Amino acid sequence: MISIDNFYKITEELNSYHARLVAVSKTKSPSEISELYNLGQRIFGENKVQEMCEKYNLLPKDIQWHLIGHLQTNKVKYIASFVSLIHSVDSFKLLKEINKQALKNNRTISCLLQIHIAREETKFGLSETEAIEILTSSELIQMKNVTISGLMGMATLTENTTIVRSEFQSLKNLFVRLEHVNPMFNILSMGMSSDYQIALQEDSNMVRIGSLIFGERNKNNSY
Ligand SMILES: *Cc1c(COP(=O)(O)O)cnc(C)c1O
Repeated sequence: MISIDNFYKITEELNSYHARLVAVSKTKSPSEISELYNLGQRIFGENKVQEMCEKYNLLPKDIQWHLIGHLQTNKVKYIASFVSLIHSVDSFKLLKEINKQALKNNRTISCLLQIHIAREETKFGLSETEAIEILTSSELIQMKNVTISGLMGMATLTENTTIVRSEFQSLKNLFVRLEHVNPMFNILSMGMSSDYQIALQEDSNMVRIGSLIFGERNKNNSY
């Protein structure tokens, strides 16, 4: 069940921060997505390539599809013709493949570098050093079909807001440092259902919210 109240409340909060909403629709059906689309939402986030392709084919073409989950190199080709932003670039190899597939489709794909800020070992992402290596690489200049537009990060899943806030602050600090040398930098993607208000206070300008709007996800991960 979609919570229209939460959608309007979040939209209003985001407006006051000049931040954008990625409605995370993974495991949700095309009809649930249509419901939110009819309320004006245009940016939707998915974490699986096949699911995103199926929904892209079924739904209105002015939806901006954001890939927010780990992306395997061999799957880039399936989304390269339509994806609007990839939040989860976590290797140079992946970035090269995105550039190659974007070139084949005669377009430029915007990407965010996913930075590992959480304490959990399992979350994907680059270290600060690795991100700087990518951004200062001479090879990147040759890659005309990708734009690195900013950073994405996920905080530790904890009730301890001090930890969450300090992780967002460290991502924000990295963003500010990199923004000075990278004129294309303008997106700081941080904050989910449980922590988006802290993220906004720490200068996020794009939040990725699923369950607060769409309700709990289906446990079997299908729609
Ligand atoms: C699922 C997911 C979200 C949204 O999570 P909620 O807690 O439902 O808001 C945000 N970002 C990423 C990368 C996700 O995989």
